[in-house]
Amino acid sequence: MKTARYYELGRRDEVRCLLCPHRCYIGEGKTGICRIRKNIDGDLYLTTWGVVSSVGFDPIEKKPLYHFYPGSIIFSIGNFGCNLRCKFCQNWQISQEVPADVHRLRKHSPEELMKMALAKNTNIGVAYTYNEPVVWFEYMMDIAEAAKKEELKNVVVTNGYINPEPLDELLEVTDAFNVDLKAFTEEFYKTQTISKLEPVKDTLKRIRRSGKHLEITNLLITGHNDDTRQFTEMVKWIAGELGEDTVLHLSRYFPTYKMSAPPTSLSLMEDFFDIARQKLNYVYLGNIASATGQHTYCPKCGQKVIDRSRYNTWVNGLDNKGKCTRCGHQVVKHL
Ligand code: SF4
Repeated sequence: MKTARYYELGRRDEVRCLLCPHRCYIGEGKTGICRIRKNIDGDLYLTTWGVVSSVGFDPIEKKPLYHFYPGSIIFSIGNFGCNLRCKFCQNWQISQEVPADVHRLRKHSPEELMKMALAKNTNIGVAYTYNEPVVWFEYMMDIAEAAKKEELKNVVVTNGYINPEPLDELLEVTDAFNVDLKAFTEEFYKTQTISKLEPVKDTLKRIRRSGKHLEITNLLITGHNDDTRQFTEMVKWIAGELGEDTVLHLSRYFPTYKMSAPPTSLSLMEDFFDIARQKLNYVYLGNIASATGQHTYCPKCGQKVIDRSRYNTWVNGLDNKGKCTRCGHQVVKHL
């Protein structure tokens, strides 16, 4: 438990959390939508500070990040809770349910986590992932500051639903983001996630302006966000606002949690890959056995520069500065 940042006193005994665009009013003894930020005697607390739901080393490609130290591994940490209610959540056991005895679960101080992270000398940093890290902001920031001192990279895997002020603070310690852009309509965000699209677009623009590394994931769900016109609009927006070098991961959906639509077809994934490639230089397909959308090609000369097979990665066509060995084009900035 730790006193939260970003809140103000509300009406009567309420407090108002200002961390994410929900701006929850929280009554005495209650938690906000994320279930882990609680009003206790008129102060707001993060109830899960120090609690770890999952921890381990993952390939960086699993986040997914394909242009940030490709082929490396990263120490990855999850906590509990989420500020969204996605019906298709793949990690709902930790995001949508918080154990009643959460305080009795495994606890790790930032210092203990650093010891674990540094135990593997090939590890490049710490990823805040598995559930939405924005909602355990104070714990994430404490770990991220400890990681910076150890010269480790910080990677945030997020839905992007955060207010500008805490985001600016997060940007100071973060090296790379993967942001889930779940669809491109307010209707989808409202009915499928209980949030809004516009703040996520603002987050993406803010990250881009900061110069921090950014990749985007879009989960394609049969019958829900697979409209060609909306997808084309989304890709155009990414190319126009964030740049045509923005990395986009199209991820295949499988039925899970409260969503029972059939899995996304291989042909739809490949069609959408082709649409995205018309505007963006780096598009990948995830969660799928397909020869399409796995490798990285130089957008200038077409040479294959990174080979991938599941989470195995071979950087064959880049020099040590991330430039194509055939034409000198800068493909990857972090190698
Ligand atoms: S972080 Fe949680 S408590 Fe705060 S506004 Fe968002 S959902 Fe509400």
